[in-house]
Amino acid sequence: MHDVTAAQRIATTVLQAAREQGAERVERIDLALGAMTMLDPESLAFWLEQILRGTVAEGAEVEVEQLPLRVRCKDCAWEGEVEVPDDPIYHLMPFAPKCAVCGSDEIEVLGGDACVVRRIRVTGAAEDD
Ligand SMILES: [Zn+2]
Repeated sequence: MHDVTAAQRIATTVLQAAREQGAERVERIDLALGAMTMLDPESLAFWLEQILRGTVAEGAEVEVEQLPLRVRCKDCAWEGEVEVPDDPIYHLMPFAPKCAVCGSDEIEVLGGDACVVRRIRVTGAAEDD
């Protein structure tokens, strides 16, 4: 399942960052979720919480910021945000954005196509507790 795979990848990133920072606990995880990933933020947070059980990040607060899909048209140089349709078909095939001005599908994706860990807040790292 898509959401589980993404959650596992995020968990790996978070735990690695926590280890590098010498964290005793991860309190909060801020994620940026691009619209084109087609991931469901609630489902993602749910799976992340399950995967992080028994780790230093167990019980961490998960904040998901959703980012719009930003594109540039290679034909007319239009730049802007494209709405990603909420259609289950795009879980099976990639969504192909089109230019809002000229309708071209020669599109360069500028942002909103990834799911990344923005920052984590930890305790126990280089501070007197
Ligand atoms: Zn265009």
